[in-house]
Amino acid sequence: MNKQTIAIDNPTVRPDAYGSLAVPIYTNVSFEFDDAARMADAFTGRIKAPDYARVENPTVTNFENRVRQLTGAAHVTAFNSGMSAISNVLFAVAAQGRNIVTSRHLFGNTLSLITVTLRQFGVEARLCDLTDLKAVDEATDDGSCCIYLETVTNPQQEVADLEALSRIALRRNIPLIADSTVIPFIETSLKDLGVDIEVLSSTKYLSGGGTSLGGLVIDYGTFPDINRRIKGDLLFNIGAYMNPYSAYQQTLGLETLDVRYQRQASNALYIAERLRNISTISKVTYIGLKDNPFYDLARRQFGPTSGAMVIIDLESKEACFNFINRLQLVHRATNLFDNRTLAIHPASTIFGNFTTEQLEQMDVRDTTIRLSIGLEDPDDILDDIRQALNESR
Ligand SMILES: *Cc1c(COP(=O)(O)O)cnc(C)c1O
Repeated sequence: MNKQTIAIDNPTVRPDAYGSLAVPIYTNVSFEFDDAARMADAFTGRIKAPDYARVENPTVTNFENRVRQLTGAAHVTAFNSGMSAISNVLFAVAAQGRNIVTSRHLFGNTLSLITVTLRQFGVEARLCDLTDLKAVDEATDDGSCCIYLETVTNPQQEVADLEALSRIALRRNIPLIADSTVIPFIETSLKDLGVDIEVLSSTKYLSGGGTSLGGLVIDYGTFPDINRRIKGDLLFNIGAYMNPYSAYQQTLGLETLDVRYQRQASNALYIAERLRNISTISKVTYIGLKDNPFYDLARRQFGPTSGAMVIIDLESKEACFNFINRLQLVHRATNLFDNRTLAIHPASTIFGNFTTEQLEQMDVRDTTIRLSIGLEDPDDILDDIRQALNESR
């Protein structure tokens, strides 16, 4: 069956007592048992039945099952934010004395999680250029616990060769963990590219318009201990499981993900191509543009669509602020892949607490604007961008 059909009609959805067609929202905490033996079996994992909502909830399980069917994963666990999905998966693989091989081109909080938070527990960050396979090979050793990357980095839009990295990971018998937030799994299969664990912020595309926070760990089953740790310890001890209302909203988001994504990605390409003809924009970065250095690799890995994040560079930070202040349709807000088009100046906001030197190492420039292209008519978005740049329409 085609993914879009699976997203709508999922055979793993069991009918509820009243035959509700949409997934019911269970907001309760406890689940009652008929007898003590069954209760003991549920609490010790001998049978699969919800007992306490910090670790299992039928609305969330339904959402996880749907994602599992769509991705072909062995296990899916939903968390209450992208960051909690990422931190839990790293807690599951890392330990004192081990190292994480990754790059400086990471979502700001992920970089800080790895270089600050995990460092306090004796985990070393090995930051290298993940597009340089020799450097990755040299950074990896017997102490490495994973190679971690983002499939398309933000705002640099760098794309690493997943199959090549997976061969290095395989040689060391460590998982390749990829954050796929920027290109949704509906269009591509990271499993086929050798990724062992996929993590993503479902706050973005999946939530269906910035409705709720969430994160997913999509586990392809190659390292069974990771799921054991997540489901056996971390869900209990850290308590960051997704809440049922968010699971409900994101289940609805999942059903329309493909149509929304197709439209947002085609809007983004249409707009990126036209922004190149505007003289006050010094650079347009979008992996869907044929002269982008990652165009061929991105197509091979992610198929014909290239996401909805478009990066533009203007003359100066002041020009960026003026542009943002003059926008009338495009919203001044953070988030990616809302239904609306959003603009942000990453260097002063998301990365605002990093030093100038750190920003330079991360390739985050203060001349950069990040646009997340929405579902509006693309010509209306372009008109607003042009007027905010003081260009004639
Ligand atoms: C937003 C984002 C995150 C964090 O997700 P939250 O849901 O905000 O916690 C992680 N990685 C990437 C690439 C993101 O864009």
